[in-house]
Amino acid sequence: MNIIIFGPPGAGKGTQSKFIEKKYNLFQLSTGELLRNEIKNKTQLGLEISSIINSGDLVSDEIVSKLIEKYISDQKNKQRLIFDGYPRNIDQAKNLDNLLKKYNQKIDIVLKLSVSLETVKKRILERQSQEKRSDDNELTAIKRFKTYEQSSQPVLDYYKESNLLKVINGEATIPEINIEISGLIESIKG
Ligand code: AMP
Repeated sequence: MNIIIFGPPGAGKGTQSKFIEKKYNLFQLSTGELLRNEIKNKTQLGLEISSIINSGDLVSDEIVSKLIEKYISDQKNKQRLIFDGYPRNIDQAKNLDNLLKKYNQKIDIVLKLSVSLETVKKRILERQSQEKRSDDNELTAIKRFKTYEQSSQPVLDYYKESNLLKVINGEATIPEINIEISGLIESIKG
């Protein structure tokens, strides 16, 4: 099955993706992680995008689309992807549908983690002390949250229309969210 895990920065998408990746033998495709790897490896693309990522802005749709197509087209990932951080706007959602169609795949469920800006700020500052991500500070956290708020509603409406959207309280504890997500996945596995 292909899953989208959706929510603002700091919602717990990465944490929950890692959990379902293991439990259901899926593959977590985190666009943020892919982009950070480009920067870490000092590739040409990495050099081009580092200031954009550090300022909390979004990288162009085209760059991210090229990166994810590599994974979607790979037979070993067929119908076993967790999209973490993609799509982030309605154009990306439509692009994802087209890419999946091209490789005879589809989205099975969209899990939305809802959290408040206060929680996001708190979690991002905690993560900053552990992971030292260069885009994790209070100012970019607010900016990234605002960007999310501006672009997320059309994406959510899009998946609601196709009956794929499940909303989860992202303020609950990690194990509580694990349980809720497992229940939702089991219910569509049939
Ligand atoms: P994340 O790890 O998902 O919080 O992403 C970190 C940063 O990577 C974002 O603030 C964006 O600059 C960039 N990024 C990740 N995913 C996307 C995407 N789908 N579209 C555009 N930029 C993205």
